[in-house]
Amino acid sequence: VFMTPIDKSAVETILRPLDLTDDHYRRLMDLMTEDIVKGMNPQTHPAANIKCFPTFVRSVPDGTEQGDFLALDLGGTNFRVLLINLNGQEVKMESKIFIIPQHIMLGSGVQLFDHIADCIFKFITDHKLQGKKLPLGFTFSFPCRQEGLDKAVLTVWTKGFNCEGVVGKDVVELLHAAFKRRGDMPNVKCLAVINDTVGALISCAHSDRQCAIGLILGTGTNACYIEDLQNVKTWTGDDGEPRQVLINCEWGAFGNDGNLSFIQTDFDKAIDKHSINPGKQIYEKMISGMYMGEIARLAIERLRKNHLLFEGEGSYHLATRGRFYTKYVSEIEGDDVTNFTVTRQIFDELELTNHNEQDYRLVRHVCNLVSKRAAYLASAGIACLLNKMNKKEVTVGVDGSLYRFHPFFHDLMMEKIQALIRPNIRFKLMLSHDGSGKGAALVAAVASKLK
Ligand code: ADP
Repeated sequence: VFMTPIDKSAVETILRPLDLTDDHYRRLMDLMTEDIVKGMNPQTHPAANIKCFPTFVRSVPDGTEQGDFLALDLGGTNFRVLLINLNGQEVKMESKIFIIPQHIMLGSGVQLFDHIADCIFKFITDHKLQGKKLPLGFTFSFPCRQEGLDKAVLTVWTKGFNCEGVVGKDVVELLHAAFKRRGDMPNVKCLAVINDTVGALISCAHSDRQCAIGLILGTGTNACYIEDLQNVKTWTGDDGEPRQVLINCEWGAFGNDGNLSFIQTDFDKAIDKHSINPGKQIYEKMISGMYMGEIARLAIERLRKNHLLFEGEGSYHLATRGRFYTKYVSEIEGDDVTNFTVTRQIFDELELTNHNEQDYRLVRHVCNLVSKRAAYLASAGIACLLNKMNKKEVTVGVDGSLYRFHPFFHDLMMEKIQALIRPNIRFKLMLSHDGSGKGAALVAAVASKLK
């Protein structure tokens, strides 16, 4: 095939802003450290980007937890009810996905919790568990101010939910009120509310006692870590042993005050502007699965409009917001470069008709840049936590489809975290298996022991 030589410097000019240096990442770490300290101080907390909510989870499981537990998982892609049997290292799990219809996602809080109670009742009946005493752990992955292990006040809905009358209320109370309205589930009691980051940490800690950080790289991004109580100035609970608490960073909101503008590209600004929450979740919008494909699409479109891709010929799909899925980024990067079979298939799906090998290589390069930046930004966050914690050996429990399915995310993160941490720290990244279910059950198990 005849190919016109590509204008390398024009390509470079468009893509350079996506290519950050270690100096950028180190500056970001300094800013994040400052913001975390702000989040944990009662004077600066109200205005802080990174809220650092104390979770009231004080310790990781010791492996002696046993019995049957229910778990609820709300706030991920699916709503699930789970039955978990714990017996030492042996964990048996059964689960069922239930649908939350759009009209309930945008309806009233009463409707939402009645629906959840219905689903639990069906699950209990199907599993012939009526009459059995069932402690419940609730993974509720929305920003909450926690007031106790079983008391979590929703601060804001995210991820497409907007149920009236829930913000400012304790979700456990709303759940128990729904049980009470039914009157037929006297044996189910919610003992703990956690979010998915805590679930990832706890479920990994069950088999690896060094696990002290939980990380989510899915639709959104967030992290939690174990902090010394003396650093948590916002702590209002008891200050006995163990003098530590898991902190839910809610780090997706990093950058909300504009302090990440030194790395924001035009693509990032466009995504933020067209999002349902402009000015919010700035760090998350540069990293997570909900946005990565769109960043790549915007860069590809910019190149195309400058006749640096597809001889300038686009398509309706390529011009459509959100149509270049994050899974395409994984697929293109994982493609065989001797034939670009998958890449061509994706271009067919997008109804692009004018493409050659030069285009495949350049689109792959764009995907590489976008996912590398996302992986490195998340790495800088993890390195910031590792440098802050006073531990020599730490395992990071990770969950989420972006980390799970992207071909190089794990390797990119290993390399960059290593480059950014103090040399005497050792770390591992461990994939969490069903953290939202297992983690919630384990926390409920620990809580039921204490009762
Ligand atoms: P959640 O975070 O909602 O609990 P997931 O962990 O499954 O759920 O994350 C969903 C996100 O993962 C979506 O934004 C989607 O774009 C992204 N995703 C799905 N498949 C892949 C893939 N193969 N590679 C990268 N990202 C993916």
